[in-house]
Amino acid sequence: MSTRAQQYAADVVAREQVTPHLVRLTLDVPGFVSTGIPDEWVGLVVPGQYQSRYYTVRSIDGSRLVLDVVVHPVGLVTEWASGDPVGQQATITEPKGSFDPPAEAGWLLLVGDLTALPAMARIAAEHGGRLPTRIVAEVPLDSRVEGYFPDGVEVTWLPTDGPSRLAQVVETLDFPDGPGYFWMAGESAQMRAIRKHLMRERKLPSAEYDVMGYWRSVAQRQPRAVDPGPIWRAGKAAGKSDEEIWADYDAAQEAGQ
Ligand SMILES: Cc1cc2nc3c(=O)[nH]c(=O)nc-3n(C[C@H](O)[C@H](O)[C@H](O)COP(=O)(O)OP(=O)(O)OC[C@H]3O[C@@H](n4cnc5c(N)ncnc54)[C@H](O)[C@@H]3O)c2cc1C
Repeated sequence: MSTRAQQYAADVVAREQVTPHLVRLTLDVPGFVSTGIPDEWVGLVVPGQYQSRYYTVRSIDGSRLVLDVVVHPVGLVTEWASGDPVGQQATITEPKGSFDPPAEAGWLLLVGDLTALPAMARIAAEHGGRLPTRIVAEVPLDSRVEGYFPDGVEVTWLPTDGPSRLAQVVETLDFPDGPGYFWMAGESAQMRAIRKHLMRERKLPSAEYDVMGYWRSVAQRQPRAVDPGPIWRAGKAAGKSDEEIWADYDAAQEAGQ
């Protein structure tokens, strides 16, 4: 059996500067098949490169995919998306998703930094009508995006001008009563701290949360981004929980540095 993930040619048809830190790219990807999982991500390989970076499919309309890309001081995709990619052809890999609330969940609590905005928006759009949903979004001072999330969802914006403080924030949050689903993504060290907190202090059953390290704060361009796809497939095949799989992903990123 081939372990090579399916790849798609992705023509960049539009670029919009949503905020100084967020660029929206619309890609035309004929033949793309969504998983239907609202936090699904794809690997993106920009022209002339072979390394992937991972991006959430913010929305889909026919063959058109929207990715919201955070641009930060230095980075492979950052530099490409900051220029003029319209008219260029990138490559994306087949999508994978992680969001998996238990059937008995009565609420959703979504927490994340700027990189998690697309997933939180799509989760809220697809599930927020059915389950009471609260979003806590930590964004740079100039990156609050009015109207980014659907109506009817409670949104708390946390403006920041420094390193993420999401781990501290989550420790002080009131979780709703009864079974629900806590979903969170952001900087990996913060996410590791939160997993410990959820396990040791809140004693949340692992089926009731999903905490994902989306990026690592390292001093330079990452030598190699680790593909979450094979780790995800191998973890699922081995019967691991989402938590165990994302912890494996963190460990693989550490080892790859
Ligand atoms: C499942 C999944 C879904 C994701 N979805 C999205 C998404 O929808 N939108 C999105 O923008 N990102 C998303 N990410 C995060 C994205 O893959 C990383 O931020 C990636 O490293 C960015 O690549 P780059 O080429 O710009 O920078 P890299 O070349 O990877 O890194 C260069 C430097 O930038 C730093 N850096 C990387 N990311 C950030 C950041 N966000 N803020 C500040 N510094 C950073 C690194 O520490 C490094 O020093 C997702 C990640 C995963 C695993």
